[in-house]
Amino acid sequence: EHLIDQIAAGEVVERPASVVKELLENAIDAGASRIEIATAGGGKTLLRVSDDGCGIPETELRLAVRRHCTSKLAGGLEQIASLGFRGEALPSIGSVARLSLRSRTAGASSAFEILLDHGHCEGPRPTALSRGTVVEVRDLFQKVPARLKFLKSDRAEATAITDVVRRLALAEPEIRFEITGPDRSPTVFEAARDMGERIAQVLGEGFGENAVTIDAEREAVRLTGLAGLPTFSRGNSLQQFLFVNGRPVRDKMLVSALRGGYADVMAKDRHPVAVLFLTLDPALVDVNVHPAKADVRFRDPGLIRGLLVGALRQAFAESGL
Ligand code: ADP
Ligand code: MG
Repeated sequence: EHLIDQIAAGEVVERPASVVKELLENAIDAGASRIEIATAGGGKTLLRVSDDGCGIPETELRLAVRRHCTSKLAGGLEQIASLGFRGEALPSIGSVARLSLRSRTAGASSAFEILLDHGHCEGPRPTALSRGTVVEVRDLFQKVPARLKFLKSDRAEATAITDVVRRLALAEPEIRFEITGPDRSPTVFEAARDMGERIAQVLGEGFGENAVTIDAEREAVRLTGLAGLPTFSRGNSLQQFLFVNGRPVRDKMLVSALRGGYADVMAKDRHPVAVLFLTLDPALVDVNVHPAKADVRFRDPGLIRGLLVGALRQAFAESGL
């Protein structure tokens, strides 16, 4: 079973940033309003995600770290509202690292901790924690040389973690996010009143004045957000934030449609800055093609592409570009 978990880990956990994504999604699913992330060594030596969500009862801690155990499929596969549902993340991470899971539910008299050390499980035993859940991951891949060698520098891994936090922070503006550690300068996104405030926190105050507002609809597919002016472009595509039904995605077709929308107004070697939200009937899109990848499968990709390119071109034309 340990080997199966390690193989599953290859699917779910590519690098420290993918661990952070899984842990943040769990915290969001738990209804957290504050999430703190701590990292060291680009997440290779330490990753810790603390939340103030619903917590895990003592009796469910062992299940939480067991493969294919999820508390999130009550409504069946058709009705997935939560971010995670495969029940693979915690056992996978715990098969290639030292994982500690501490949690306390609202009415509980104590918090409990369970450890998963390269597949070996210990606990639960009582521990101190006032509320919510703390997941700590140490020495990720340190005993798995085949995976360790694919990791980049501490600095590059730390940047990838920040990127994951920024994307999920844009998806969840009302949650407070804080990320700290010896490998970075601290970042805090205070709980925002609305999306506009969160966008300003994540992309900087100057972005709003250097962007056009997008609000378009085609066949019940809605596109909203902000598209940076061509003069506000960048040398890389790190500042492109795309969401489908509220979930951050990094889909080739969408990225290429974004480029297409700018084709007439921006130099080819530049990258637009944009925050765009697509909203459509969940039956017309599959956002769960792969557990870790942010790929999307649209029933009608041509419609989506046309909507994106058309909305951007029209917005630029209207502002005289
Ligand atoms: P999944 O999210 O796909 O259900 P995970 O392995 O990520 O699987 O988590 C297993 C289970 O552990 C979840 O279904 C949930 O019940 C519980 N869990 C994990 N993290 C948290 C958290 N931060 N707060 C509350 N419950 C959690
Ligand atoms: Mg999960």
